[in-house]
Amino acid sequence: MVKNSVKKKELINTEIAVLGQAKIPSPLKRCYFIEDNDRTLVNLAEEDMGLTDDNTVYQEFEKAGPRAFTYFDPSKTKCAVVTCGGLCPGLNDVIRSIVLEAHYLYKVSSVLGIKFGLQGFIPKYGHDVVELTPDKVANIHQFGGTMLGSSRGPQDPEEVVDALERMNISVLFMIGGDGTMRAAQKIVAEISKRNVRISIIGIPKTIDNDIGFVTKSFGFDTAVDKATEAIQSAHVESLGVVNGIGLVKLMGRESGFIAAQATLALKDVNFVLVPEHPFEFDGEYGLLKSLETRLDERQHAVIVCAEGAGQEQCEYTGEKDPSGNPILCDICTLLIRKVKEHFKEVGKDVTLKFIDPSYIIRSVRANANDCVYCGFLGQHAVHAAMAGKTGMVVSRLQARYVHLPLDLVTLKRKKLNVKSDYWRAVLESTGQGHLRNDMEKDIS
Ligand code: ATP
Ligand code: MG
Repeated sequence: MVKNSVKKKELINTEIAVLGQAKIPSPLKRCYFIEDNDRTLVNLAEEDMGLTDDNTVYQEFEKAGPRAFTYFDPSKTKCAVVTCGGLCPGLNDVIRSIVLEAHYLYKVSSVLGIKFGLQGFIPKYGHDVVELTPDKVANIHQFGGTMLGSSRGPQDPEEVVDALERMNISVLFMIGGDGTMRAAQKIVAEISKRNVRISIIGIPKTIDNDIGFVTKSFGFDTAVDKATEAIQSAHVESLGVVNGIGLVKLMGRESGFIAAQATLALKDVNFVLVPEHPFEFDGEYGLLKSLETRLDERQHAVIVCAEGAGQEQCEYTGEKDPSGNPILCDICTLLIRKVKEHFKEVGKDVTLKFIDPSYIIRSVRANANDCVYCGFLGQHAVHAAMAGKTGMVVSRLQARYVHLPLDLVTLKRKKLNVKSDYWRAVLESTGQGHLRNDMEKDIS
């Protein structure tokens, strides 16, 4: 409930494009339909996006959910699903939810699975297309990964739309990260250039939880669960020897949400390093001196390091992955070398055990919370598509399911707010006091 004093303000354009008027009565029965002009008000100051600090300002978003009328005639509608980018728990759950909703509730004529990301559209790769029936997807949620496979690397949007037209596909569901959403924008542009009626609906995926306007992305909850297991192991290892150091590398290329949340979940972490918070190795307030003090006091220490932390410590080589994302400097290898050099210099024996659980975390099946969440995302994606919406993604924004224009999710990356109570709680939990004082100078 929003109080009268609250200001409504349009900070951003949240209008959703439609292919045309929805005129066909929905086949859904016993259903509470959402009107297109139903809006939910969201306080953007509560999102870690730096868009506004004014928490009296609320932005309107279109509500997700079934509409009373559909644009597409279900029995004549062919849908397709593609998964792109890296693995994340819950991909199979989203695929399954889309297929079951489309088949059982809307009774669409068919749902095709496009193999190995956008490559699946391009004839030269020779990937088969699979018919996704309810039987085919019945058990896929019991496994991690994606039953469709994935890929990186650019593909020509014109060729993708050629393939959509050739296969007579009316709706394409694209599950993927920021790159996938950029690819989706280009596909939408090509579709409107050709003036064809194909709906593109995105379901944003990021294990790092760093996509804007998505309060908590699917798979994040599972990732934190698995990350805590790795931290527990590192803690046990560090306790097993005198001056034991357990180092855990976690995902988080540009945002340290997994590292921060897993640190809060377990109080065993003594240092947490994230991209948003620069640190130094050397000096009185540097990591090495603080680690030495910690070992002198307690004889063991646990360090959690997000993969994108400390990039300011290395020179960027300019290397990129096939999708054009910069290849990060390997901060943990540098950290291990620095720790070894430092303790050799000060004449102390330490034992460092390094755990990198990244691929275990990415590939596990979703936990119960994520299963529920992915189920809703898939269902809402189908409702939106059948109503003729396009160029949009389905998101859970502060516990409400909404439609977002595609360009919003690539507008700004979500980052940890290092001036928030949340981050203060993380630092209090680690007790990385010296390091913190030094950092506060940088961020004040
Ligand atoms: P992850 O979270 O794993 O990085 P992602 O969706 O960002 O997921 P990418 O490999 O960057 O993964 O992109 C997925 C697909 O989208 C790839 O086929 C890639 O070539 C394509 N893509 C990425 N960026 C763009 C872009 N700017 N324009 C067109 N296509 C793009
Ligand atoms: Mg990406």
